[in-house]
Amino acid sequence: MDMQVKETLFHFVNGQRVEGTSNRTGDIYNPAIGAVVKQVPLASAEEVSAAIEVAAAALPGWSATPPASRAQVMFSFREIIRNNMDELAAALSAEHGKTLEDAKGSIGRGLEVVEFACGIPQMLKGEMSEQVARGVESYSIRQPVGVCAGITPFNFPAMVPMWMFPMAIACGNTFVLKPSEKDPSCPLMLAEMMQEAGLPDGVLNVINGDKVAVDTLLTHPQVDAISFVGSTAVGECIYQTGCQHGKRVQALCGAKNHMVVMPDADMDQVVDAAIGAGYGSAGERCMAISVVVAVGDETADELVNRLKPRVQELVVGPYTDSDAEMGPLVTPDHYEKVRSYVDLGVEEGADLVVDGRDFSLEGYEEGAFLGGCLFDRVTSEMKIYTDEIFGPVLSVVRADSYDEAINLVSDHEYGNGAAIFTRDGGRAQHFISNVRIGMVGVNVPIPVPVAYHSFGGWKRSLFGDHYMHGPEGVRFYTRMKTITARWPAAIEAGARFHFKRGSEDN
Ligand code: NAD
Repeated sequence: MDMQVKETLFHFVNGQRVEGTSNRTGDIYNPAIGAVVKQVPLASAEEVSAAIEVAAAALPGWSATPPASRAQVMFSFREIIRNNMDELAAALSAEHGKTLEDAKGSIGRGLEVVEFACGIPQMLKGEMSEQVARGVESYSIRQPVGVCAGITPFNFPAMVPMWMFPMAIACGNTFVLKPSEKDPSCPLMLAEMMQEAGLPDGVLNVINGDKVAVDTLLTHPQVDAISFVGSTAVGECIYQTGCQHGKRVQALCGAKNHMVVMPDADMDQVVDAAIGAGYGSAGERCMAISVVVAVGDETADELVNRLKPRVQELVVGPYTDSDAEMGPLVTPDHYEKVRSYVDLGVEEGADLVVDGRDFSLEGYEEGAFLGGCLFDRVTSEMKIYTDEIFGPVLSVVRADSYDEAINLVSDHEYGNGAAIFTRDGGRAQHFISNVRIGMVGVNVPIPVPVAYHSFGGWKRSLFGDHYMHGPEGVRFYTRMKTITARWPAAIEAGARFHFKRGSEDN
């Protein structure tokens, strides 16, 4: 047994670090060395309720704060993040395992949402019509929803929370964040930075925990809205439970993103795209490409022949190695899960062209490193095709025609992202119009929308009606109110237009 005392993290409530009192903790790994490096407190229902009550108490003051003043906090927050980018990225990579460059890139994408939130006064402007009837005006305004909660996954510990809390807070809500218990240091740092940026106490709280914490957020009467990002099994349950308890819920879930390669595609571009999108962040991205659908055997043969050496040459290493292109998986458990999918693919009869299972790195033998794996001749009945593996495992499926390829993409239970690689504009347009997928790329492998557009998938990749950030984020975090007003005409009320003398009645 390891008797070494590990640093234990904290919750962040009412502007303060708060020690956990539940006597339950979770392990945080440094996946590069495969060892537990910190402990995270796992909150009890009482601790979560206390954080919710703090957020509820902060709501009247914050929702009445002018949007332009809320935006000032976002401007300051942006500067603080930019000044602390290296520190944030190092904390993120140490617990997640992704390369520093990738960590910074993901924080940068979160920062773009903060920048979008800086423009909140413009986005909260309502609509007005005069004379909807004689002397009657009608207008609509957007008001905060109330106390909002965010439940976030391990794979983007900075970006995904930043899809949520900057938008919610800029819209005038208060927030309780429950980050992944696998890598919570970065979200805690972000909350402290918001405080430093001038956010009043209690507006943003971070509570660490597991199912106990989530269940309390889902059922507590003072929580008004829930944003979730994570796996489909959990997200569907969160959506149903949250809705049953009268909350507004958006749950962004799992994915199996396809990249269709037409025979006329630029193969140099295709190979680079498949390598970056398939193996970047060790495949632990909800927008990672996990399936390449090659149309025609010639296309497939060329693609596999060109991918094979590239996958074999991937530089796998810890985030401290600046040459590494891909890090370890997030925990030893996740490593075992991904590896067992590779075993399964072989049993299912797929052709394992590159086998990364025996990868080992000197000095990091206990690390959760899996080399890149490439399967060819994967078919739609195989579990390695239907399931989200969430690791550096790319499957090539061979399709005889474009119709077969688009049907394959549309029929998959997940509908997050898909891309088509072709030089044919008409074909690309057909794909855009007809594929049943939420985010589509044309010669772009990871079509993640920028912050001023909205992010979300179709089918079992999203439960709820709203995408995240961009205009949809504003809609999710506000309620519309419509006012119809008639004012007696000033002239009829006998208004006086001359300066009054002191002796006149008011
Ligand atoms: P996860 O579902 O295991 O965990 C997500 C969150 O839910 C965590 O905060 C976790 O503590 C909590 N949770 C886990 N089990 C729970 C339970 N039984 N009851 C209540 N709460 C529970 O997901 P993960 O492994 O952290 O993240 C990877 C998943 O997230 C992948 O499926 C990936 O596709 C998905 N993801 C989706 C998007 C998207 O935008 N669609 C973005 C990022 C990640």
